[in-house]
Amino acid sequence: MTYLVSNPTYKRRKSRQLFIGAVPIGGDSPIVIQSMTTTDTRDVSATVNQIKQLAEAGCEIIRVAVPDKEAASKLCEIKKASPIPLISDIHFDWRLALEAIKQGVDGLRLNPGNIGEHSRVKEVVSAAKERSIPIRIGVNAGSLDAKWGSIYGADRIPEAMVASALEHIKLLEDLDFNLIKISLKASDVPVMLEAYRIMSKKIDYPLHLGVTEAGTPKGGTIKSCVGIGTLLAEGIGDTIRVSLTGDSINEIEVARGILKSLGLKNEGLNLVSCPSCGRMELNGFEEMAKTIEEKLQKLKMPITVAVMGCVVNGPGESKAADIGIAGGNGKGIIYKKGEVYKVLPEEELLGTLLEEIDKMVRA
Ligand code: SF4
Repeated sequence: MTYLVSNPTYKRRKSRQLFIGAVPIGGDSPIVIQSMTTTDTRDVSATVNQIKQLAEAGCEIIRVAVPDKEAASKLCEIKKASPIPLISDIHFDWRLALEAIKQGVDGLRLNPGNIGEHSRVKEVVSAAKERSIPIRIGVNAGSLDAKWGSIYGADRIPEAMVASALEHIKLLEDLDFNLIKISLKASDVPVMLEAYRIMSKKIDYPLHLGVTEAGTPKGGTIKSCVGIGTLLAEGIGDTIRVSLTGDSINEIEVARGILKSLGLKNEGLNLVSCPSCGRMELNGFEEMAKTIEEKLQKLKMPITVAVMGCVVNGPGESKAADIGIAGGNGKGIIYKKGEVYKVLPEEELLGTLLEEIDKMVRA
């Protein structure tokens, strides 16, 4: 797979590559979008429906909670119907991990230090190794082992998280297992930033980024964009998950937006629209921008569309876009591929723009 980046200043941290199912993670493969189902895993049909919706929205890997034996027993059925690779999320019970591997999952999210005696870790690791199933070690600030808190103190949480993750990593490496991914999530953005930065210099395993328990779509989107976006801009991160309360589809939209803003995903609409001001010369401008965004929401082809209110910045932005409108006193200029295409009265601008975009998509 070719790694398409339209960000010339982007320098990515070197990480080893592994595969979750057929999806490559790390190395020079694209940054992968993950999410987690909110359904009861025991309800196969609801879980599969949600996975399909998330995949349709752009989710590339899905994680499901495996709280008990019954949920574990449904994984094979879910995996068969899932259009994207399946990761099982397991805490504490090594038998669930063994069952998940038996059921054919593509990855595990499991902290080996939390499943008890060494023989259990050995058993899980040898089963994962046999099937080449990667394990993500996920240390969350909120559930950090008290031992690390007391060693590092309250003002060195990022260091404590890294130390905890390194201990889990060692358990796997001592068993000659290196299909490892790491996450160091926190709900506090500066804490997660620092934890990932420290870890990125210590190991070359792929990093899965996230601001955990980020909040509702409004506040959580801001935290996630700042946390995940900052690290990606620094070249850190191989997969991402935006965690938002509510419909998981929101997570995918935000994740795609983060990657597109950084030039790390070249697909769909890139809308350039001005905030408008006292110089605005078009009526219904906000509605126009919103309609374009809504109509082109599912578009996969990369396209930059500019909608600009007046001649101050309008011509420049519209010329630079694939197609754009620059407003001017009840009328507007449509630019296509950098050239003036048509001058139209304002009521004809939106319809014509959408028709032209449709032609470009079909061409
Ligand atoms: S393009 Fe014109 S209307 Fe839009 S914000 Fe700039 S100056 Fe204001």
